[in-house]
Amino acid sequence: MALIVQKFGGTSMGSTERITQVAKRVAKWARAGHQMVVVPSAMSGETNRLLGMAKELAPKKQTNEYLRELDMLASTGEQVSVGLLAIALQAEGVPAVSYAGWQVPVRTSDAYTKARIDSIDDKKVRADLQAGKVVIITGFQGVDEGGNITTLGRGGSDTSAVAIAAALKADEAMIFTDVDGVYTTDPRVVPEARRLTSISFEEMLEMASLGSKVLQIRSVEFAGKYKVPMRVLSSFTPWDIDITEEAQSGTLITFEEDEQMEQAVVSGIAFSRDEAKIAVLGVPDKPGIAFQILGTVAAANIEVDVIIQNISKDGLTDFSFTVNRNDYARTLDLLKEKVMPGLGAAEIVGDTRICKVSIVGIGMRSHVGVASKMFRVLSEEGINIQMISTSEIKTSVVIDEKYMELAVRALHRAFDLDMPVSA
Ligand code: ADP
Ligand code: ASP
Ligand code: MG
Repeated sequence: MALIVQKFGGTSMGSTERITQVAKRVAKWARAGHQMVVVPSAMSGETNRLLGMAKELAPKKQTNEYLRELDMLASTGEQVSVGLLAIALQAEGVPAVSYAGWQVPVRTSDAYTKARIDSIDDKKVRADLQAGKVVIITGFQGVDEGGNITTLGRGGSDTSAVAIAAALKADEAMIFTDVDGVYTTDPRVVPEARRLTSISFEEMLEMASLGSKVLQIRSVEFAGKYKVPMRVLSSFTPWDIDITEEAQSGTLITFEEDEQMEQAVVSGIAFSRDEAKIAVLGVPDKPGIAFQILGTVAAANIEVDVIIQNISKDGLTDFSFTVNRNDYARTLDLLKEKVMPGLGAAEIVGDTRICKVSIVGIGMRSHVGVASKMFRVLSEEGINIQMISTSEIKTSVVIDEKYMELAVRALHRAFDLDMPVSA
């Protein structure tokens, strides 16, 4: 008998019919004798619908008070899901109980819309499991020290599931979604993408951080930190598929690099349209400037990604960086209000029509010339590179967003990731 956490994403929970399928699948695992904790997302489209209404009514400035209310609102989607799933399980004859994040409680920081999980109390959950119940916990949300509801950022249910699995020392976190595993790149953009039977934790971490939305990055961080076995698999197989077959399906995130993975230089391609570029032009080139700009941004809980500082001319330099597109307006406001006055005659320009495309692979550690091959492939497609950032196992470029799909397809082909064409 194992303790298993199963997460079901929005599409998997998309209608009452789909919720019945989820309930039947969970019931199958529970009847096989496993202790089951289930973490569902809001029904597909629901979080967007809720946030869309808020946008219609939003004040001009995104204050912390406004972000608090966004979380109050967005967290309701998951509350609907847990209630419906518990009811569907009861209809299957399986005892089930649902909890919102604050009831467990799942304690988080107070960074609204992107809170981090600090701790999870497992007492109540363990008692319910002991009593033979399936425990259903809302994904995506928690509660801060002040008792305010928080959310974990888009896609945050993955993180809830893995964090709960870590807190319960579960045998596995199974992330059920609308594709049957992790692919070399998003199969919706490149139909030739291949499913990976396993991917190393490090590569998955990079893929997720660089925009592969199949897993939220923090879920992978949790899996790594607490060594939670984690698998991505399909919720669209028939619910009564053989349990042993299901347990081995999809993509396993592994903590050891096996030989097979070492062979591929590039394992996957990630991309993200979620970024925006900001350039602060003509700033004095002297110590403290980076801190003045980026320190202020960081203090407002805004994450900065690619950073470039140009060589200075006449004592002045340009400083460019990217932030999440959701943070773009807030970052510009912040710079204009808090940083520009102290910087002299600097000017700020921004561009939201950019994207980031990245190649990822552990093999890049031991192979030279991988990045230059990337640059060559892009140049052959006539794509201009605006920014570059590299680390041991990835190279990212910032390009015009209108070339994103072209770039991803060309790189996927050039690095031999396309599915072999059968004769
Ligand atoms: P869920 O609602 O189940 O959390 P998401 O939409 O968040 O589902 O994530 C699944 C989606 O991630 C897939 O439908 C696919 O389009 C996308 N995706 C992006 N990159 C990848 C990848 N490398 N492998 C598989 N899916 C990917
Ligand atoms: N419902 C939330 C979202 O749409 C969380 C999730 O689906 O993981 O982002
Ligand atoms: Mg998701």
